[in-house]
Amino acid sequence: MTPIAFDNSYIRLPERFYSREEPTPVASPALIRVNPELAQQLGIDLDWLASDEAVQVFAGNRILPESQPIATVYAGHQFGGWNPQLGDGRAILLGEVVDVSGRRYDIQLKGSGPTPWSRGGDGRSPLGPVLREYIVSEAMAALGIPTTRSLAAVTSGEPVYRNDVLPGAILTRVARSHIRVGHFQYFLGKNDMEGMRLLADHLIERDFPAARQADNPYAALLELAVSRQASLIAHWQLVGFIHGVMNTDNMLICGETIDYGPCAFMDGYDPDACFSSIDHGKRYAYRNQPVIAQWNLSWFAQCLLPLFCEDQTSEQQQKQAVETAQAILDNFNQQYEDAYQTGMHRKLGLGAVSEASVQLVESLLAAMATHQLDYTLTFRHLADLADPHHSGAAQVSFQLPEAFDPLVRQWCELLSEDDRSDQSRQQEMYAVNPTFIPRNHLVDQAIRAAEQEGDLVPFQRLVDRLAQPFEYSSDDEDLARPPQLHEVVKHTFCGT
Ligand code: AMP
Ligand code: MG
Repeated sequence: MTPIAFDNSYIRLPERFYSREEPTPVASPALIRVNPELAQQLGIDLDWLASDEAVQVFAGNRILPESQPIATVYAGHQFGGWNPQLGDGRAILLGEVVDVSGRRYDIQLKGSGPTPWSRGGDGRSPLGPVLREYIVSEAMAALGIPTTRSLAAVTSGEPVYRNDVLPGAILTRVARSHIRVGHFQYFLGKNDMEGMRLLADHLIERDFPAARQADNPYAALLELAVSRQASLIAHWQLVGFIHGVMNTDNMLICGETIDYGPCAFMDGYDPDACFSSIDHGKRYAYRNQPVIAQWNLSWFAQCLLPLFCEDQTSEQQQKQAVETAQAILDNFNQQYEDAYQTGMHRKLGLGAVSEASVQLVESLLAAMATHQLDYTLTFRHLADLADPHHSGAAQVSFQLPEAFDPLVRQWCELLSEDDRSDQSRQQEMYAVNPTFIPRNHLVDQAIRAAEQEGDLVPFQRLVDRLAQPFEYSSDDEDLARPPQLHEVVKHTFCGT
């Protein structure tokens, strides 16, 4: 029996879509962590997962029989600037698998050596970014946010040369599909409309079967992609997640979060929060995420547009195509706003959306910003207040400033308008307001312990804890509280 039942479809696309590339073997790989729950979902044999052969596979030292490794080519806008050729410069797709529910997933190594698209880079990754991606992507999954996952992480036993000499590592990443806006932009840049159509058909077949039946499947694809992105960005905003590098090559059409380079969760609520050390113009600040997503989607629309017309020479059809695409893109705002407000109301235990409730949300956030209140703990604390008789699940020491008294009174009045019991409302609030998020300083401490002392205990503990973000445990109080002044991490790095 093969340990991973690969079933590869991207490789059946024409050869100009990818390059057959094997990972470059490393000196002495050692396991950091594997993810048995995810492995089980993917139908991967758990005994094998614990074997030395698995470590060799996750290091790129051994290729399983049905794996057909490739690196794919894409393009993209980075910080608004066009780059006609990027591609998997340090990632190699080992192949695809169909999970227990019939859904297809990519299994990809990241940090597995150079490819034709490495652009002078070494194709490697230091340990720090691998740990960061493992921690944050798995935390996102536990928070119920669509994301690429981490199946395994190994050290390579080789140094990686950046400003410092760092230990090297390799992450095994799983995605519903790694097809980015940038993959489509590559074919737009080449004016290769046949390639564009093949890619769109492939993606529809693979991930958007509902679009197949539509009169215009490509418009339906755009529509579905817009919906998934609107929902995703609302999820990010609701937990205070800042992606940090929302380039078009870092946006997956499947609607999963990808690229955990300079990402961060905010501690104190600040709409202008921006942590990335290379984002000098604050292009990817928290408050800009919805509009940037829409900008990226407009490039996806631009790519698909030629496929909307049967007759490229018909002006009438072209005009119609632009109108169709524009209407779909315009829907983003409403879909995003609906998802955000619904989520915010859930977080606050509010019933129906009304003018008064929307106003309350706005006032509350404004006051949180003024007082720089911890975003996560404020909501958790409000859940405590929702039923004073049963509170105590949060228990992290937290107090609202007096200035919040009128807001809390307004909130209580609104709560009394729906007929849920206080207790059930509180339970629902606890279920959507996490106590534990991958706070920057905790991620940083875990990385430093691993890098400097070879100590993986803080990393393992953090990953374990973040698997249950909504359940308070007093043993982990230190992982729930915001950073003390000396612990604050102001900047995050791509780590490439
Ligand atoms: P990122 O900043 O991670 O989104 O990467 C942008 C592009 O640079 C992608 O095409 C990557 O594959 C490529 N890249 C990033 N780091 C490396 C590296 N160390 N070696 C080769 N290519 C890289
Ligand atoms: Mg990237």
